[in-house]
Amino acid sequence: MPSVFIRTYGCQMNERDSEAVASQLRDHGFDLVESERSADVILLNTCSVRDMAEQKAIGKMQNLVAESRRANPGQILGFLGCMAQSRGEELVRDVPGVRLVLGTQKFHRAPEYLKSLLNGEARSVVDTEDEKGSESTIREHLPPADGQLQPVTAFVSIMQGCNQHCSFCIVPYTRGHERCRPIAEIVDECRELVDRGVREVTLLGQIVNSYGKRDIPIVDGKSGFVQLLEAVHEIDGLERIRFTSPHPKGYGLDLVEAYGRLPKLCESAHIPLQSGSDRLLKLMKRQYTRDRFLELVNQLRAVQPGMGLSTDVIVGFPGETEDDFQQTVDLFREVEFDQAFVFRYSKRRNTPAAEMDGQLSEEIKEYRNQHLLQVMNEIGEKRFQTFVGREVEILVLGPSRKNPLRLEGRTRCHKIVVFEGHPRHIGQLIKVRIEKVGSFTLYGTPAIVNLDN
Ligand code: SF4
Repeated sequence: MPSVFIRTYGCQMNERDSEAVASQLRDHGFDLVESERSADVILLNTCSVRDMAEQKAIGKMQNLVAESRRANPGQILGFLGCMAQSRGEELVRDVPGVRLVLGTQKFHRAPEYLKSLLNGEARSVVDTEDEKGSESTIREHLPPADGQLQPVTAFVSIMQGCNQHCSFCIVPYTRGHERCRPIAEIVDECRELVDRGVREVTLLGQIVNSYGKRDIPIVDGKSGFVQLLEAVHEIDGLERIRFTSPHPKGYGLDLVEAYGRLPKLCESAHIPLQSGSDRLLKLMKRQYTRDRFLELVNQLRAVQPGMGLSTDVIVGFPGETEDDFQQTVDLFREVEFDQAFVFRYSKRRNTPAAEMDGQLSEEIKEYRNQHLLQVMNEIGEKRFQTFVGREVEILVLGPSRKNPLRLEGRTRCHKIVVFEGHPRHIGQLIKVRIEKVGSFTLYGTPAIVNLDN
């Protein structure tokens, strides 16, 4: 059996795609291996969200080509994902030795194309075409590796693509227009996961709260996305539901109220702000204002006072003045996010922002990046401190990644909690009394051993 090694760059969506590809390859008789050294096939699943991510994957592939020529001439090397989609044939030309380039609607073709390359039917394959129904090809989940525990949480891809076309973003060009999987198909997948022992699912997409906007009629004032949440909510044995990544524009009152009505829907929301300046939000084509964002935050906190809020922000967008940046800092102080991912603006090919005047220096971007991270750390420290002395319900995920002698879990508002516990806690909902705070981590002691038994 030919062996395959997959390396993934970028976001949760890429991780999910790689897992589905790996599972499909296994079903077609390929052997999944942990090391690229012994693999007959190496696939890099790429990300295009920033230029750095692309350069990293290209650099890695150039090293693999050199190594393969030296130690394993028959090895097949390929690119998958967003960069494969945006660069296509160019990659075979610019990185000689690459024999497979699969776009974001062709992941499920990997087994057949690899077989044709391995048995010499084809010299190289480049396929970046659109394919009807491709959104429903990301559904398989790998079973735990030998000796590994069944994961307690899982990501479920509900849609592909984005129609939003924010001026800085390459996703609509690499992932195509929005295509949604049917509710029944998603519910079946979630139910299968629960039968395997999963207790929490995260519904995944580039702009999840646009789910069903064009193909599911509103029912009783509820959008397609809220109807999906309700359907998943009905699954017995499922304890928690999360979703990522929404767009502030897609938060209708039906979704805000769902946080108060659906007990399994965890009170945590990752809402990408991108900037606190209305002038920049307009240039970014985000289609909401600073005031609307604040109104949304207040609506969510009115429904769920303990709502955990995180966000994404771009600093150094073309033309960003000191005053624009200060408006972002002020909004951070006003909202007091629990966590934030701060990114320096990175020019993306074919995006309107790449052609805009006022491109800023890397020094200014880096200064604003560090400054906002410092502000976020101060706010984070303060917000995490409010948990000391409180009892919180956590879903126990498994051994702590930092200290395997301890266990870790997540609160409903998505905070990591580390504690001393027993393996039988894994997969359980338990109460933990928080005693101290570390860097964006809570530490505590189990208040009640096991809620269920
Ligand atoms: S909504 Fe998100 S994925 Fe879609 S274009 Fe904007 S930034 Fe990109």
